Amino acid sequence: MLSTIGIHESVGAVFRPEALRDALEDIDPDVRIVSTGDLGGCDALVTLAYDNAFLEADLEWIHSIQAGVDRFPFDALESTGITLTNSTGIHGDAVGETVAGYMLSFARGLHHYRDNEADHEWDRQDWDVPFTLGEESVCVVGLGTLGRGVAARADALGMDVVGVKRTPIPVDHVGTVYPSGELKTTVAEARFVVVTVPLTDRTEGLIGTAELSAMRSDAVLINVARGRVLDQTALVDALETGTIGGAALDVFETEPLPADSPLWGMENVIVTPHAAAATGAYYRRIATLVRENVRRRDDGEGLANRVV
Ligand code: NAD
Repeated sequence: MLSTIGIHESVGAVFRPEALRDALEDIDPDVRIVSTGDLGGCDALVTLAYDNAFLEADLEWIHSIQAGVDRFPFDALESTGITLTNSTGIHGDAVGETVAGYMLSFARGLHHYRDNEADHEWDRQDWDVPFTLGEESVCVVGLGTLGRGVAARADALGMDVVGVKRTPIPVDHVGTVYPSGELKTTVAEARFVVVTVPLTDRTEGLIGTAELSAMRSDAVLINVARGRVLDQTALVDALETGTIGGAALDVFETEPLPADSPLWGMENVIVTPHAAAATGAYYRRIATLVRENVRRRDDGEGLANRVV
């Protein structure tokens, strides 16, 4: 039985730590908000950040409030005997809606009008620039929680949806699923390419010069996965040379995106601050995952969303 679950103060970047603590009032272990220097007595930790000090503490279990756990050292956790679980499964709706928003903005020119509004400027886009999503196609690269959330919303908007998956089995709301080996030919057809794969050794730099060059000149690249899945230098080059038509980016090689990044100044780029999954309900979803895994642990079952 767990005695104390720490909620690491780093979760404060996503929601109020007290909100999660209060939502977990009903479970047996004590739940308290902790800092890295104050992990004594905790046998489990719910966290956003990773610190090597976690390996020195007496933790049995760490739960990441993010789906992406690329910042965690799997081998070191395994050899220390710490179980790692992640928050895959809870972001399909929020990220799906954010991606739908990016696509609608490009189709209807909303970000241009919002920019003009700052200058009190009444100026329509050229007659042949706006389009409607129902006549367009989207290629979703990675069909897990995020990818399926995007596909469902794109399908509801009447778009032609294709996807790329390591094992190309049928997926709801996706017209055709192609194997990863066909990535370059699959992205070539789409007006929008949405990247939703985890960052791993195999996906780092997955979208680089070759893939960007294969895309349509009016295509928009959307990255809601991790910055390093995309070669950001190659992307800037593709945008500057008109190889592709635009980008919507929530994640970057370096976060926060440095003030001198050329991406900030590009009219055909939407930058959001790693906020695609944000929702006021986030802490409740984490509470549900943590509560379920406390129950599983008590009942001797394997933990859900176990990574290590
Ligand atoms: P998930 O585990 O549900 O889905 C990931 C999918 O990618 C799986 O289906 C997996 O098979 C597939 N995949 C892995 N490698 C692939 C490859 N080479 N080609 C094609 N498919 C591949 O995870 P998720 O919840 O959908 O999240 C995916 C990633 O998105 C996370 O790891 C995280 O890095 C990122 N993410 C970002 C935000 C945000 O706020 N922007 C929010 C949640 C997740």
